[in-house]
Amino acid sequence: MKHLVTGGAGFIGSNIIEKILLSGDEVICLDNLSTGDLRNLKKWQNNTKLKFIKTDIENFVDLEVDKIWHLACPGSPSFYQKDPIKTTKTIFLGTLNVLELSKRYRAKLLVASSSEIYGNPKEHPQKEEYFGNVNPIGKRSCYEEGKRIAESLCTDYSNKYNLDIKLARIFNSYGKNMKSNDGRVIYNFILQALKNEPITIYGDGLQTRSFCFIDDLVDGLFSFMKTTFRKPINLGNNEEITILELAKLIKAKCLSQSKIIHLPKREDEPLKRRPDLVLSKKVLSWHPRVNIENGLEKTINYLKEIHVVKN
Ligand code: UDP
Repeated sequence: MKHLVTGGAGFIGSNIIEKILLSGDEVICLDNLSTGDLRNLKKWQNNTKLKFIKTDIENFVDLEVDKIWHLACPGSPSFYQKDPIKTTKTIFLGTLNVLELSKRYRAKLLVASSSEIYGNPKEHPQKEEYFGNVNPIGKRSCYEEGKRIAESLCTDYSNKYNLDIKLARIFNSYGKNMKSNDGRVIYNFILQALKNEPITIYGDGLQTRSFCFIDDLVDGLFSFMKTTFRKPINLGNNEEITILELAKLIKAKCLSQSKIIHLPKREDEPLKRRPDLVLSKKVLSWHPRVNIENGLEKTINYLKEIHVVKN
């Protein structure tokens, strides 16, 4: 079995590659290394079943594979907002390219969609049937609308060419192999806490998120890939927490002296987010197992090690 993972040097992609290689299958990793990092694949560098191609997913690369995992795109708001036109092109052209590959080789395709397709949701928790509340000209729209058009394009390809395509709506996730300066909240807070620097909350901190540990997410993605189900499925953790509670929890777990400070609220910020997981449980028999306390401990230990190795 041959797999293609786009964005395979990134956070979720590299964790998928690890699981594929452990199963003994072959995998090709495509990445432009804009936010991905080859250090995430370092321990596999001598494994002949892994091939790496440095390229931008906006370019079509003809590769005959059985399964495609399409993850290529920066996931952190601070990164994807740096060059929003590039983000929109990455999502649209990248998805078009993997769809063409899927069509050419009848490859099963899993596309990383996102909780961002729900925007600043008016329904809570978010079920897959909810259409969302997205500002088409907001700061986040390159990503939010990008992922929405990707879902639309996938659905049309799937219907027209009878392709087996999975749309995984991935909610906030965390764990090993994120970029240290990724800007997403859990890494920011842990690194600030470990350095006893101020923990920076944007706004009042009463906004909520629900955080899924990477091992759970990867299990969910593999379960989804095994099915013949062709509609979108939420994947995440449904344990909801305010950002202020998260800051306090991380501070306590790191035994940190950091102050918790408030910075201006981010523009176009979703105020709450929590996946409804009824469908994922029913179709995939999957449910996240790692709670926030345990997931944070693992991530804190991982980041401590990385920090020690770097120094
Ligand atoms: N956040 C924060 N401080 C930070 C980074 C993020 O208060 O240093 C907040 C952010 O405003 C949002 C939440 O944490 O409410 C999650 O942000 P992240 O960038 O991780 O992902 P998002 O869910 O917004 O896509």
